[in-house]
Amino acid sequence: MKKLSKILALLMIAVLAFSVFAGCSSNEEADTPVTSPDAEGGDEVQTDGEGEAQTGGEGAVDRIKEAGKLVMLTNAAFPPFEFLGDDNSIVGVDVEIAQAIADELGVELEIVNMDFDGIVPAIQTGRGDLGVAGITADDTRREQVDFSINYVDTAQYIIVSEDNTDIVDAASLAGKNVGVQRGTTGDIWVTDNTEAEVHRYGTGPDAGAELALGRLDAVVIDEMPAQEIAAANEGLKVIETPLTTEQYAIAIAKENTDLKEVVDTVLTRLIEDGSIEAWIEEYKAAA
Ligand code: GLN
Repeated sequence: MKKLSKILALLMIAVLAFSVFAGCSSNEEADTPVTSPDAEGGDEVQTDGEGEAQTGGEGAVDRIKEAGKLVMLTNAAFPPFEFLGDDNSIVGVDVEIAQAIADELGVELEIVNMDFDGIVPAIQTGRGDLGVAGITADDTRREQVDFSINYVDTAQYIIVSEDNTDIVDAASLAGKNVGVQRGTTGDIWVTDNTEAEVHRYGTGPDAGAELALGRLDAVVIDEMPAQEIAAANEGLKVIETPLTTEQYAIAIAKENTDLKEVVDTVLTRLIEDGSIEAWIEEYKAAA
């Protein structure tokens, strides 16, 4: 009996120690806006990684002007919206948009490359000014951050190997190995709407590479990245039927209403004068 309670006590200490340890490590992750280890070229981040932005009530625009920089949080593995260009700097449609907003404010643009699923929480806690990452404005995220006006209409699509004929829709994904990017609307859709075996990756291209190697049956991801992945890997095709209806918008801390006004003004101009459409074509060709 005595021996048993000793073992129990030891076990409890071990469990406690583990939970304290686990708590620490997840906090640490949350505080560090750096690239995922598996995102390509994680070191070529155009930032000091400090993410100094803070939520600041009505005064966000003044604070940004004072700091002289606008901090954009993104995940640079999502062509044509953000990806690593020839010289390993982060380029793409979203970078052009953020640059136009920085120009409007008369400040420098700083880009922080981080895990996609960390972006909304980081905006919420003031570690960046704008989340610009092909982020779908959905209801769950709307509880955490504000969104700009929508700037792109899109949807989730299925990628499969060229000779695959049995995967065509949600039902046909049952029991299949399906790759997604962690924390994305693709991840959420597959998890909620199919009986698939879900495999989560740090980036879409990582999932695409696994599919090309035959280690997955399908990948579910946003329309344009799906086309880029199929073009970059021999033997893959995108199934024509869209699975969802989504819109991209820029994530902004709820308090930063003055910043949202500037963002919406710039976005409206860029949509109306055709800039966004032109950038999509330009970066599709470049990715
Ligand atoms: N649009 C998707 C989402 O918001 C994926 C975005 C991304 O991977 N950059 O979840």
